[in-house]
Amino acid sequence: MTRNLTVNLTVKKLSLFVITIFTLCLTLSLSPKQEPHSSIQRVRTIVLDAGHGGHDYGARGRQSNEKDVALSVALKLGKKLEDEIPGVRVIFTRKTDVFIPLYERPAVANNNKADLFISIHCNSADSDRRVKNKKGRYVTTTVKNPSVRGTETFVCGFNRLGSQDVAIRENASILLEENYKENYGGFDPKDPSSMIVFQLMKNQYRRESIKLASNMQDEYVKSSRGNRGVQELSLAVLATAGMPSVLTEIGFISSPDEEDYMLSSNGQNEIVTNLFNAIKSYKTAVER
Ligand SMILES: [Zn+2]
Repeated sequence: MTRNLTVNLTVKKLSLFVITIFTLCLTLSLSPKQEPHSSIQRVRTIVLDAGHGGHDYGARGRQSNEKDVALSVALKLGKKLEDEIPGVRVIFTRKTDVFIPLYERPAVANNNKADLFISIHCNSADSDRRVKNKKGRYVTTTVKNPSVRGTETFVCGFNRLGSQDVAIRENASILLEENYKENYGGFDPKDPSSMIVFQLMKNQYRRESIKLASNMQDEYVKSSRGNRGVQELSLAVLATAGMPSVLTEIGFISSPDEEDYMLSSNGQNEIVTNLFNAIKSYKTAVER
């Protein structure tokens, strides 16, 4: 009972974080400080953000951690972009296994007047299972669900209907930051009253972000990957980016097959090629 209560409270707290990020999205998207750094007529500077790092492991697979897979893919993608597209400059939010607060990641892009911000992550699926404990009582426990697979890409927005699992998990990194209340505008997680205004939220880079996200999903499909589509979600790491920005989940680390794929050099090269082609198509379209 106590454990259930604690879990419920934790879930409530995390849900309130999600709500607060909505507010952050809204405030920042309407703020006059958020003028576009570029007129989105060119793509020169690309910030690649490998999710998690340091003591933030992200999702854990059977043999690897999300933070390491994301970093490996980000570094390979950055090299390919700089090697093969003349004039493109790549900036990494991290090149090693270090912890970086979520709010600092888009700040790197803003400070460098980047034209694109791309955050790379691995997904994870859990499911509840009823098991007998030592006393012979049935309890609900959370286990990895190995059968959920596929890729999905998010842009910052509000989704009333979709599952908030990814938002709760990816935003939970905030809880690992020491001064998260100060870092995220001193918000009051106990006040969800502004929920209604999220429907009025306008993200000025929404269209471009969705275009890039769609390109990525199209490319994954070409490699016969599962397609979970493009979704709008209230993600802290995208909320303050002053340019088109996406978070792509390159596969489920909770699926043994997809974990093997994401750890193999063939798999990583394929993902890197998918993302490279998506960015290149986006660049060609905006510079036309
Ligand atoms: Zn992640």
